[in-house]
Amino acid sequence: MKVLDIYRRPPLHIAEGVGSGEHLLIAYSPIFKRRYALITDYYRGCTIGCRFCYYRFIEATKDFIGTGKVLRMARDAEEFIEAIELSKITGRLVIVGGGSDGAMIEKELWKIAEVFGDRLRGKLLLVLRRAPLGPGVAEQMESFDFLRYGTTITPLGPEIGTPIREELQLKGLEKFVPDPSRVSVELGPITPKNYRQLGRVVEALADMGFEAVIYRGVSVGTFNLDRKAVLKMLFEHGFITREQYEKGLASPGYYYSLKNELAEGLDGIVRRAIEDAGLRAHRYSPTFYHEEWGVPIAFNRDNRVRDFLYEKYDVENPSTARVRRALERFGYEVFDIERREKGVFEVSLDRPLTEDIAMAIGEDLRIALIGRPYVKSPTVELLVNHYIPNGVVHLPEENLRLLMEVVG
Ligand code: SF4
Repeated sequence: MKVLDIYRRPPLHIAEGVGSGEHLLIAYSPIFKRRYALITDYYRGCTIGCRFCYYRFIEATKDFIGTGKVLRMARDAEEFIEAIELSKITGRLVIVGGGSDGAMIEKELWKIAEVFGDRLRGKLLLVLRRAPLGPGVAEQMESFDFLRYGTTITPLGPEIGTPIREELQLKGLEKFVPDPSRVSVELGPITPKNYRQLGRVVEALADMGFEAVIYRGVSVGTFNLDRKAVLKMLFEHGFITREQYEKGLASPGYYYSLKNELAEGLDGIVRRAIEDAGLRAHRYSPTFYHEEWGVPIAFNRDNRVRDFLYEKYDVENPSTARVRRALERFGYEVFDIERREKGVFEVSLDRPLTEDIAMAIGEDLRIALIGRPYVKSPTVELLVNHYIPNGVVHLPEENLRLLMEVVG
């Protein structure tokens, strides 16, 4: 693996538009987004190089997926952890390995975890890793009780588009995990090619002492692919309904035209296979994080109430003054706040609410926050004139200098 220092990467040209601010963060910041967790990378880029990896198709990372080159996003562990500590969108769960693979930081993880434990007490550090787990993992898990691992198992991986084989992943889990309750396993993508292998994988996990897994539906990207043909194939195999097929065709797309969807019948088959093996089946990662690890959750997503969370868990119902203060802390001028129902707040602001901020406030107050206006992801203008001056995301000094050079 050839590690390039971010300070020596050639400047990128990023055209203004929704998402362009996030692409700049992907290029220059250790933290690049906030969903049910804060998503970070110590290195960006991935030596594994799955065919379906969407980081292949974006300007900021395309040269670093499967090419053997990766980018170091912070000078050292202290600088990396400081960026997390000082970013206002931080939350209870911090993911490292969002656009990379946790196996690449195995050596550095000792130092990262040590500083994390000193400065970010009460938070959990989740290392995402598709590469099979190795001997260092057991020791690290025993040394740091806040450390979690997460892996995605794609049955028949090489046929679906990843070089990582599930047999090796299962062996790694069996041999090196001292406590399965601290590992999240996501099964997927589940496709017409591999769904028959699921039963075997979940039985192996149950034999190891796993009690819960997450299963994912199908996703269809918006880059470099015949979207109509893929959607048609999934529809014809019964993986998506006609409604989902049409939704995928019509979607303007933001990385995905269809994300994590599964027709009800197939969903039932997969769920039964998992439950028959004696495991709890989570369809979405937030229910896993919440129920298995006690992570608080936001009740909003994509500027709507996330109904299945709202119906399942107790939403909080803070005062509108508290919601206003939370928004002002992020630099907004609040024109109006309406409580639509218990724990659901619709706010009118001087500039768009973004998914990063909505998820951070939603988790902090345990509410659903709906913004007018809203954009899913920051533009360059929002990044430069709102995120950076208000500390929404904190960038190490040199990273910030580079980003500002690109913006001009
Ligand atoms: S392991 Fe993850 S980050 Fe790496 S290439 Fe595959 S999908 Fe992309």
